[in-house]
Amino acid sequence: MKISLVIPAFNEEKNLPLLYQRLKPVLRKVGRDHEIIFINDGSIDNTLGVIKKLRGRDKKIRLISFSRNFGHMPAIDAGLIHAKGDWVVLMDADLQDPPEIIPQMVAKAKEGFEVVYGVKQKRKESLLRRFLFTIFYRLLNMVSIYKMPLDAGTFSLMSQRVVKILTNLPERNKYLSGLRAWTGFTQVGVVYERGKRSSGQQASIRRLIKLALDGVISFSYLPLRLASFLGFICALVAFISIIGVFILRIFFGFGIAGWASTMSTILLVGGIQLITLGILGEYLARIYDEVKNRPKYIIEEKIGFSKN
Ligand code: UDP
Ligand code: MG
Repeated sequence: MKISLVIPAFNEEKNLPLLYQRLKPVLRKVGRDHEIIFINDGSIDNTLGVIKKLRGRDKKIRLISFSRNFGHMPAIDAGLIHAKGDWVVLMDADLQDPPEIIPQMVAKAKEGFEVVYGVKQKRKESLLRRFLFTIFYRLLNMVSIYKMPLDAGTFSLMSQRVVKILTNLPERNKYLSGLRAWTGFTQVGVVYERGKRSSGQQASIRRLIKLALDGVISFSYLPLRLASFLGFICALVAFISIIGVFILRIFFGFGIAGWASTMSTILLVGGIQLITLGILGEYLARIYDEVKNRPKYIIEEKIGFSKN
């Protein structure tokens, strides 16, 4: 049984040598044939050079280098397509996913599990981020059409069979943790402590919001339904108040005094309409993105793969 490691890297020149140092003893312990696939996602530092240098020492290292930065998910996609191992381990390059957990994952795989995902237990990140992540996973689970394990990110081991299914999915805005659960089979979690990013910039809130939206929108129709629900509520309130106003006017001679109340109603309804349009836009943008069907990434250079 051969193991492939798939590691996307964007500006990780400082982390890669450290990661490699920690990976090697772990892989020796696992004692299987392996390949380490680094995807250089258009880094603007010397990540490419560092990977090539590591490859100079260790031919088990393979490199896919993108022509520019295409993002975390496309990098994962490229890595998974090229991974030939019977088991594929997906992990970040910034040492937030501890390599020392891999033997536990392999042990579970040997027991017959097709997917072994890491469950983040303690996070060494800011309070705000921890809070947002916790809320996100629970909220997604509530609105999603499929049940997904809580606190499971990309760090995982998958069988080649599951990897094939994932890479053959035509979707572009992939939310990996969700799709991985969606494939079914026997899955199990191993708990790990998610460390701090070793060095370099952590993911921007903007990128995290995109990821969160991908998750919600590809696994839930609730936001769309919310729009019609809000519309319905508004219509109901409007209908009742119209009747109320008539009754006040006809039986009690009560003139319309409130400019303020009219304005606030208009603003409220206007706001709800804009939110609703925004929700439609999020779905539409993704559909448009799928329809354009551009390549998900462009490979500039590949080292260590056979020609076919
Ligand atoms: N990454 C990537 N392309 C990007 C951004 C990130 O390949 O555009 C890689 C990055 O090098 C790391 C992994 O994806 O190995 C996770 O990124 P990051 O640590 O920024 O995300 P976070 O851990 O904060 O979710
Ligand atoms: Mg990270």
